[in-house]
Amino acid sequence: MSRLVVVSNRVGPIDDAKRAGGLAIALVEALKTSGGVWFGWTGEVTPEPDTRLKLESAGPLTLATVDLSADDYEDYYNGFANSSLWPLFHFRTGLVQYDRQNFEGYERVNASFAKTLMPLLQQDDLIWVHDYHFLLFAEELRKLGCTRPIGHFLHIPFPPRELLTTLPHHEQLVKALFAFDILGFQTEHDRDRFFDYVRMEVGGSVLGDKARCFGRTVTARHFPIGIDAATFKEFATSDEGQKQFTSMRDMLRGRKQIIGVDRLDYTKGLPERFNAFERLLEDYPEKRGEVSLLQVAPPSRSEVTEYQDLRADLEGMAGHVNGRFAEFNWTPIRYLNRSFARQALAGLYRASHVGLVTPLRDGMNLVAKEYVAAQDADDPGVLVLSRFAGAAKQLTDAVIVNPYDVQGMADALAQALDMPLDERRQRHQALLKNISEEDIDHWRTTFIAALGSVENAGITGGSIHADRPDRNGNVA
Ligand code: UDP
Repeated sequence: MSRLVVVSNRVGPIDDAKRAGGLAIALVEALKTSGGVWFGWTGEVTPEPDTRLKLESAGPLTLATVDLSADDYEDYYNGFANSSLWPLFHFRTGLVQYDRQNFEGYERVNASFAKTLMPLLQQDDLIWVHDYHFLLFAEELRKLGCTRPIGHFLHIPFPPRELLTTLPHHEQLVKALFAFDILGFQTEHDRDRFFDYVRMEVGGSVLGDKARCFGRTVTARHFPIGIDAATFKEFATSDEGQKQFTSMRDMLRGRKQIIGVDRLDYTKGLPERFNAFERLLEDYPEKRGEVSLLQVAPPSRSEVTEYQDLRADLEGMAGHVNGRFAEFNWTPIRYLNRSFARQALAGLYRASHVGLVTPLRDGMNLVAKEYVAAQDADDPGVLVLSRFAGAAKQLTDAVIVNPYDVQGMADALAQALDMPLDERRQRHQALLKNISEEDIDHWRTTFIAALGSVENAGITGGSIHADRPDRNGNVA
């Protein structure tokens, strides 16, 4: 059996309680099963460049990590990855900051990480690179002579061609993607936006799930990421989950609760969500005193200005709604800037009558799936989900909303809060079926199977049948 080598920006921690963020959680679940090497950044920043590799064994895994220098951290991580690619790939061109020095930092880190990994690679390795931090990684490994299959999975959305072309280096980035053998996207829509760019911007051709351009052929498919649904279900009734559930329900004393759980990020639609909750209290006065919103929002990327501004805005908004509607024995919004371990979160989800997941744009959104997994099947809560989360493509039995439509969200909240038990059960059953079938194991095994079946990895050329685009640029 081939050894799996996973590359992602952050590595570990393996300890469940210390992790937050969909990517880290999904990777630990995947690697626990297959074993292998997990390579990436330690999370430490050194004043001067230091490319020394740290190796650590953790059960079937080897963790291989390097520090980032202060310059790399600024240019590559805070700069090009989080201030250029992150907003752009979430369709927020207005927030993109572009700086040539940052792009050079991004190239530098992709090249130096590839150079550090190369000596660790073995003859039968499958290399699986993750996310927007490492779009240039396969190209760098190929330059060093790597001929093993290399796959990439993009955890965030892929942007429309018209937006991607606002980035000065768009073509260089897309060309580098052709050095991978397999490209994985969260949804078919993301994959199709990539194909659209290939056909319309750089004159490539597409047939089935293959794209050909720059003298290379790459296979591009969607592999929607899932959760470990069975384990998360158990979390909800674990000692910690049960403890949180009981104390939350005791505190609610028969009132209902809406829960939101999101990193504090401008893609998550938090101001719009607070507005929708305020609108609910305005338009449905019978809900006043009867329902509260618990928003868990651990701070993230707090060195980036947009994140600081968002935090200040939300504090102001929560204060405004509470000042306007609170009673001495009822607080409308409870807004917590802290993180919870996942067992505790599971209990909080289960104690909440509505899961409110309304990103303006999200690759997948694992919180939506966790909320479903944590529910009591006999008396489940209702998931209210943004149509712009990748998860909405699978979780069609949720109450689907447009997060830009404050009134629509308020009405959907009222619908969810008043939904009869029969309908709640039916919807929950369908959602649970989906998240249990297309779970983390399914994601991991389908991607690795695709990577394992690659022939002629990294070889220039590859064949694709001649295809003639129709006048809309589509190929059958
Ligand atoms: N999470 C957590 N503790 C918290 C908040 C979030 O463990 O206090 C986890 C949550 O359970 C989920 C992940 O962080 O697994 C967030 O993933 P998602 O895909 O929803 O969003 P991302 O942060 O990756 O954009």
